[in-house]
Amino acid sequence: MEELRTFTDLTNEVVGKGICGKCGGCVSFCSAGELNALKIGEDELPQFLNEDNCLKCGICYLICPQTNTLNAELQEKFGWKPPIGDFQRITSAQTTNRKVKEICTDGGVVTALLTYLLDHNLIQGALVSKKTGRFARKATIARTSEELIEAAGSTFSGSLHLEELGGKYTTYTPILSTVKALEKKYLQDMAVVGTPCQVNAIRKMQCLGILPAHLIKYSIGLFCIENFYFDGVARERLERKLAVRLEDIAKLNIKDDLIITLTKGATFHVPLGEIHEVARPACFACQDFSNEYADISVGGLGSPDGYTTTLLRTKVGAEVYDEAFRKGYIRERAWEDAEASRRGETKMLAKIISFAKGKRTRAEKRLSELAGGEISEERT
Ligand SMILES: Cc1cc2nc3c(=O)[nH]c(=O)nc-3n(C[C@H](O)[C@H](O)[C@H](O)COP(=O)(O)OP(=O)(O)OC[C@H]3O[C@@H](n4cnc5c(N)ncnc54)[C@H](O)[C@@H]3O)c2cc1C
Ligand code: SF4
Ligand code: SF4
Repeated sequence: MEELRTFTDLTNEVVGKGICGKCGGCVSFCSAGELNALKIGEDELPQFLNEDNCLKCGICYLICPQTNTLNAELQEKFGWKPPIGDFQRITSAQTTNRKVKEICTDGGVVTALLTYLLDHNLIQGALVSKKTGRFARKATIARTSEELIEAAGSTFSGSLHLEELGGKYTTYTPILSTVKALEKKYLQDMAVVGTPCQVNAIRKMQCLGILPAHLIKYSIGLFCIENFYFDGVARERLERKLAVRLEDIAKLNIKDDLIITLTKGATFHVPLGEIHEVARPACFACQDFSNEYADISVGGLGSPDGYTTTLLRTKVGAEVYDEAFRKGYIRERAWEDAEASRRGETKMLAKIISFAKGKRTRAEKRLSELAGGEISEERT
């Protein structure tokens, strides 16, 4: 039987090696939560608050997206197959709601699907990420279509200043902390929108039957090549490299590259290789690009502007999408004929596979460097 690993192992193998993604899962779901065994430190990394209170149950280790103990179980449960996991169909689609179309990131499919679920009482709410200012978002529970629309898009038109946000400019939102809050709010039947690391942690909790992960009925997973920190030195580096001030950026999006839209309207593209220095170091050890365990995975990659590339993975995911489509929440990209559609979908898939393989190779390289003892400059 495999030896039980505990928070001390998590500290050595993940936090100490600079690959903790600061998702907060280990602390939020620590079974000694009421005993205050763990806490999130000022550096946003998990640490012991009181080591004597640790039950050494190993749950923190098992659910961490950067550990592999539960991978075989997850793969079996979701019928995972290489190179990007299981899926039933790929489409390029957009919302039919004019208001959502104006503000969404790509085609507004995420907001359209969540709105369909809410309208039909299939969920009581959705865990999403709400804008709180420029480059700042906060995990929130949206319970109305207005709240879903407020959380849509990736524009940065908020009025808060960096100082008011404690000096943090980041594209990452720690959604997992909100999962824990569901129990106290007596909510059930929820949807979640998250990055691959976040959906991975939720799936592991569901595998282990850790409450309240059972309340999450639908997961919409974002594609994710990496997330960024734009504060402090990173901000200076970025502004110098791009010759643009963060205040002048109205919208950020990632497809083949980083797409920056300025408040004055101009748009320009930055190759991802040029901004790696402001990416979170933990992301370089992350192996999942296309959110392989979500019900539905979405991104802009492979679709024209105004459309979301949508991978229908699980049976549940495909049913939700098909019903939302049938009820007019979503329309699909029009192709000339069936052959053009087949070729277009093959091309979309090829792009996703190429990004997924590239990310996996990058992670394997990073993890093998770390196994050789090389630790990231910053701890994360
Ligand atoms: C940090 C990040 C990195 C991404 N990287 C890529 C990439 O490399 N390649 C690619 O093709 N696509 C990437 N995407 C996905 C892409 O930007 C779009 O979110 C996706 O195509 C859905 O667009 P939409 O118009 O359908 O979504 P919308 O209808 O605009 O809804 C977006 C939803 O995402 C939620 N959200 C926004 N930010 C976050 C966050 N940080 N954490 C959790 N939820 C959030 C919002 O609350 C909203 O519910 C990334 C997204 C994020 C947030
Ligand atoms: S990645 Fe998340 S679960 Fe893993 S150690 Fe970091 S905060 Fe904890
Ligand atoms: S690359 Fe994306 S999914 Fe992976 S750790 Fe970073 S934020 Fe999470």
